[in-house]
Amino acid sequence: MLILKTAALLQSHLLALRKTQQSIGFVPTMGALHAGHISLLSAAKAENTTTVCSIFVNPTQFDNEEDLAKYPRSTEADIDILEANGCDILYLPEAEDVYPPGAPMEYHYDLGAVAEVLEATHRPGHFQGVAQVVDRLLGIVQPDVLYLGQKDLQQIAVISTMVRDRYPGLKIKVVATARNQDGLALSSRNTRLNMSARSAAPTIYQCLISIQAKAASDSFEKVRQECEALLRAKGFTVDYIALINGETFQPLADFDNGVPMAALIAASIGGVRLIDNIAI
Ligand code: AMP
Repeated sequence: MLILKTAALLQSHLLALRKTQQSIGFVPTMGALHAGHISLLSAAKAENTTTVCSIFVNPTQFDNEEDLAKYPRSTEADIDILEANGCDILYLPEAEDVYPPGAPMEYHYDLGAVAEVLEATHRPGHFQGVAQVVDRLLGIVQPDVLYLGQKDLQQIAVISTMVRDRYPGLKIKVVATARNQDGLALSSRNTRLNMSARSAAPTIYQCLISIQAKAASDSFEKVRQECEALLRAKGFTVDYIALINGETFQPLADFDNGVPMAALIAASIGGVRLIDNIAI
């Protein structure tokens, strides 16, 4: 695996590859890699001649300094994991390479209504930061296909909006959420869960499953209240338990069989904020 730390080196390497009609699959990550990231890499490997992963903990998407400082980092182990899983190129930049001082940069993206609900109300500025870093990374890598995880459902909708505007030829592939055996969605943040929080954490997925199971029989509000009570009893602070219209990403008051739906939960336990979702 080639490890490149600057956009200049990466771009000159990719330029040479493009001349030989290679298709480039790109997997952006913030590191602390787990099997969820690797399922994105595997999909990229299966569908492209060259795979590029990036590891960059993007400061502009954290609304909270402490969250940024505590974000898990394990670059040496990440390099071994990527190497073992056949990644071709790792882009491992410092912040100045992604955001060069003085470079012209977009600071405000028109992300539409999808970027105004759920995560947006709990993490002000987060999606502007996500759009900015993905825009910068796509501008540098110029991939043919971008791989994103279903785990971050609202992020997919936000990035798709930005990509439609700025990278109209780019394909986006969504990869299913990788989970632990007990249902907990794999996340870099899981490494910060203490023992009791870790044992309570699968409750989020149990709630999502129960929302899915009761969609045909109960009102959403009834199931939402049951889930909220269960999560609180297990020690969670609940940010939201929401049902959305999968086409518009706008919250639904009740189940509606006429549209694709998803249920989403964001909740914190032991100082760690977890998110997950399920298609209904
Ligand atoms: P992150 O490093 O958390 O920014 O995630 C990088 C990419 O991996 C994003 O597209 C995430 O949606 C995806 N991802 C994170 N966790 C999972 C998971 N459990 N299953 C599938 N994809 C994931």
